[in-house]
Amino acid sequence: GAPRVLVTGGAGFIGSHTAKLLRLEGIEPIVYDNLTTGNRSSVRWGPFIEGDILDSDGLIEVIEKYAPDAVIHFAASAYVGESVQNPAKYYNNNVCGALSLADACRQTGLQNIIFSSSCAVYGIPPTLPIDEATPKAPINPYGKTKLIGENVLADYAVAFGLRYVALRYFNACGADPEGELGEWHFPETHLIPRAMQAAAGQIPHLEIFGDDYDTPDGTCIRDYIHVADLARAHVLAFDHLVRGGPNLALNLGTGRGFSIKEVLLMIEETTGREVPIVIRPRRPGDPPSLYADPGLARETLGFRPQHSDLKTIVRTAAPFFGLEVRS
Ligand code: UDP
Repeated sequence: GAPRVLVTGGAGFIGSHTAKLLRLEGIEPIVYDNLTTGNRSSVRWGPFIEGDILDSDGLIEVIEKYAPDAVIHFAASAYVGESVQNPAKYYNNNVCGALSLADACRQTGLQNIIFSSSCAVYGIPPTLPIDEATPKAPINPYGKTKLIGENVLADYAVAFGLRYVALRYFNACGADPEGELGEWHFPETHLIPRAMQAAAGQIPHLEIFGDDYDTPDGTCIRDYIHVADLARAHVLAFDHLVRGGPNLALNLGTGRGFSIKEVLLMIEETTGREVPIVIRPRRPGDPPSLYADPGLARETLGFRPQHSDLKTIVRTAAPFFGLEVRS
């Protein structure tokens, strides 16, 4: 029959976009999600099982029932700021969650895992752009738990022959170019959607967390990558593993960084709306500047972002906030 993939966290932002693309590619996505941050209405491309990543028995049951060829593991907590305030949540969901899944894979003989990692594993990099040889020195609990997750996979690979691709996302953003799935999180904390809420008058202003960084305009620089491109990278990683390719840990970014102020200018130019701002203190845990060297993902998976120029990111996300696209 058709290949199948278990998608933990498949009701979430990146997971739902990936499930849609898997289906388009003839791969059946089996979504497993506890719906704490995910959205039931975003599960539309295959079966849905409501369950928690910490429930290893529940995972084993689902794996035995559907016999997937691989698992893509999105289910995790993903707010840098929250991780500083509430580390226990991150160690539980992200570390114990990865362990629970790795054990379910070991017990069922499911060999292939694609893991959602993050550029947060690098902390404040000594040099830019960030390639995969950059030392991994996370500066917040979120990044630390993602690094432990990668280490679990690497150690299970040695001990039990687990095979994996760890994908270190830079800043996921944008929305389904066909308009079926939005850029949304709950609660919303990410820069581009918050700025769009401010532009649309849904919140009084965007708070800029620090304008005194050692960057050209004083605001933090990030590498923004469209969620449709991230989804594509997961499909390529799946193909790589089923063809018997080696274990990998890869950056997924564009190679280009934009400051917060540059992002706001693009939103204003594209929507014709002003983004009202207030300057706030720095947010603990934020590195000043992060952007990827995207070379290794290109060489190993043939991955090239197609939707990640900032204009396209803003154009695809704007309609979900009731904003018109003017240019
Ligand atoms: N940011 C901001 N105001 C907001 C949300 C984010 O100034 O309302 C900043 C944040 O401090 C960081 C950048 O925008 O420097 C990107 O933050 P985001 O939360 O989108 O992603 P992260 O880089 O934390 O994964």
